[in-house]
Amino acid sequence: MIFSVFRICRALAVSLCCWVFAERLAGATNEPQPEVRVILWFDTEDYLLPADDDATKRLCEMLTDRGIRATFKLVGEKARALEQRGRRDVLAALRKHAIGYHSDFHSVHPTPTEYLADCDWLEGVGEFARHERQGAADVRRILGVTTLACYGQPGSSWAPQAIAALRQIGVAPHDVPCYVDEGAQVGLNEQPFWYAGALHVYHMGANLTRMELHDEAAIAPAKTAVSEIADRLRRQGGGLISIFYHPGEWVHREFWDAVNFRRGANPPREQWRAPPQRPPEETEAAFRRFGQYVDYICGIPGARWVSASDLPLLYPDLTQTEGATAEDLKELARRIAEDGSTGLDALRLGPRAYSVADQFELLTLAVDELIAGRKPGFPLKTSGLLGPVASPPPAAGLSQLSWLAFRDAARDVSGFIRTQRRIPARVFVGPEAVAPADFLVALARVYSACRTRVGLPVSEEFPLGRNTPVLAARHVAAETPDLFGGWIIHKEGLRAPKLMELARLQAWTLKPALPAP
Ligand SMILES: [Zn+2]
Repeated sequence: MIFSVFRICRALAVSLCCWVFAERLAGATNEPQPEVRVILWFDTEDYLLPADDDATKRLCEMLTDRGIRATFKLVGEKARALEQRGRRDVLAALRKHAIGYHSDFHSVHPTPTEYLADCDWLEGVGEFARHERQGAADVRRILGVTTLACYGQPGSSWAPQAIAALRQIGVAPHDVPCYVDEGAQVGLNEQPFWYAGALHVYHMGANLTRMELHDEAAIAPAKTAVSEIADRLRRQGGGLISIFYHPGEWVHREFWDAVNFRRGANPPREQWRAPPQRPPEETEAAFRRFGQYVDYICGIPGARWVSASDLPLLYPDLTQTEGATAEDLKELARRIAEDGSTGLDALRLGPRAYSVADQFELLTLAVDELIAGRKPGFPLKTSGLLGPVASPPPAAGLSQLSWLAFRDAARDVSGFIRTQRRIPARVFVGPEAVAPADFLVALARVYSACRTRVGLPVSEEFPLGRNTPVLAARHVAAETPDLFGGWIIHKEGLRAPKLMELARLQAWTLKPALPAP
């Protein structure tokens, strides 16, 4: 339930009859309601129109008054503009909320997709950090926060390398990089997920909702829509709803960036223009409607507001914090060894979800111990390895590995993941390069064979997988003209096939983010 002054006032105002009815309803089931979480986030990005500062302040304050901690993702230049305009009042109001990051200049070209489109993985991680480090540092300094609660890309200017750079630029609440935005590039079941080492609220699909602010007739359907989502999630045992706005929507007639940077336009700073503003009565009406909408959500049974900085505590990765049991690893190995020919995917065992990268890491660690003549110590923790950063080699001529060849390759893999913190793009068996997914099948077969025996299977041979698909890649979007080019700021038809190829490789790391048990 959400604590809110407004709810208390409303509760006092309801008639006795309603109260008795509500009590009877509550008494009908003693079961606790499954929790429906609501994350409300604002891309706070317009550094051109001062009225946007006032709208930001008013939103912060109206939510604080209701006991709601929202998430404001600030653009670096917006934070600097607030500082330069002396808006300590806005900064103070923002500090009551979770502060995320929304790029340094948002729509000034080149945007992240534009400058990362032709980069490989490592170059891209470095370039994102180079472009974004200062803006993130400015937001942290000006807002007085040591870590940023999340990052989310400007428009559709997404790139997988950005995700791997988040820790470097200080986006890691509770030491966990978080990504909060909306887009179609990658997603899992329209609920939070882990991908490329970051906890994501993204591609929320049917669990994303919002009310049109400037249409009186939009209030009733928006209330119905959010209630229906909450009812469905409750029936499913709980879940997260994502709602987003931009403070500028209350005051702009047209998006601030479309006025200046549309379809690749890139005027120098001296020629930036503020967007046309709405008349005050339209802004007032929008605030009133938004207040009604938020109060309505406060009253939804079982609803709870969450912010980006809460996410790591609400969705802990138990494979990292608690680790895998011996039973889990036995089951993972069994499933990989049996299903390896049809493909590899994230697997859920009880409260723990294991990405394909987690499976690879755990089996490498365990087999490493067996090779050294020791029993693996359980629980065995994952460390959040990244996926491979280059495409796998074509199927090797090898189909079987002798124990000794396997042992040497496995040792090399173990050294690689300890040093590089990612899945190798190729595993070497002497001069032969083997796809890591095919090698994972052999790892699982070796672990299943050796787990309980005394001594090593020196005279045995172990089959590799053959063109083993990583099925999790189906959750990564196909590259289409609209995926990046659909954003009004990008040039029409902007393509970034290399980014989506890198994104597919990171599907090794994709798994659901399960709520804390
Ligand atoms: Zn934005």
